[in-house]
Amino acid sequence: RAIENGELYIHYQPQVNLESQRVIGAEALLRWQYNGEVVDPVVFIPVAEQSNLIVAVDEWVLGEVCRQIDKWNKTGLPAVRISVNISARHFRKESMAADLMQIINAHRVSPQQLCIEITEGVLMDFERAQRMLAELVAFGLVISIDDFGTGFSSLSYLKRFPIHELKIARSFVDGISSNADDRAIGSAIISLARHLGMSVVAEGVEIADQHAELDASGCHSGQGYLYSRPLPPDDFAEWLRTHNLP
Ligand code: C2E
Ligand code: MG
Ligand code: MG
Repeated sequence: RAIENGELYIHYQPQVNLESQRVIGAEALLRWQYNGEVVDPVVFIPVAEQSNLIVAVDEWVLGEVCRQIDKWNKTGLPAVRISVNISARHFRKESMAADLMQIINAHRVSPQQLCIEITEGVLMDFERAQRMLAELVAFGLVISIDDFGTGFSSLSYLKRFPIHELKIARSFVDGISSNADDRAIGSAIISLARHLGMSVVAEGVEIADQHAELDASGCHSGQGYLYSRPLPPDDFAEWLRTHNLP
């Protein structure tokens, strides 16, 4: 009903290159306006997952993001890559890859302008994940592992799957400038990603000390309140125009 009633909308949170501070992309984050209140995705996404409605939700988000990218491209906004979260539950649907590709094609958006964020749990169903990710990557999509290091998985999957990017979970970034354990885990993830030829994004960067520590450890990019909160589409476009000046 939320989809039918037009109660869902998307905010875009910028991802910036730590060295140059230029915007490299954004993550699409879903919001639900219900009875005059904004419901957090941490509340309604798990419910959508339990009921399998998550497939319709993820597809709606992808379609809406494609529509927005097309609109931005037409207005001459600098092209950046938008990351879309796809639920692990969605991978149980046999036609998932074909359905996502069909949505992207229907909007005539280049797959290079999109990144799919998945969680480590997806990779546990080894053969299925390998098949589906191979299809998505052959199509031209970038694959990112969200909240890296917080799920149940083995490091060996990093060499078995076509993964382009790791996102350091906020729980590690939180203490990266103040806690020796978090710093050790954070720099190990950065080094792992770099040696495997992947890019690495830090999530939930809130203070300048975290930014400095991440930059010094060789992290490529960051996302968090220090740079910007998730923004409505028009505000994101404005932010991009003012922050990506040559
Ligand atoms: P996520 O994908 O790990 O997204 C990052 C979350 O961290 C977002 O919460 C974002 O608003 C928040 N965040 C970003 N920077 C900061 C910061 O500096 N400090 C703090 N404290 N938080 C920060 P949000 O928007 O509430 O989303 C929560 C989760 O809901 C997401 O975690 C993602 O797993 C899920 N989600 C959101 N949108 C979608 C969607 O379209 N589809 C699916 N399947 N899941 C979604
Ligand atoms: Mg995410
Ligand atoms: Mg995350």
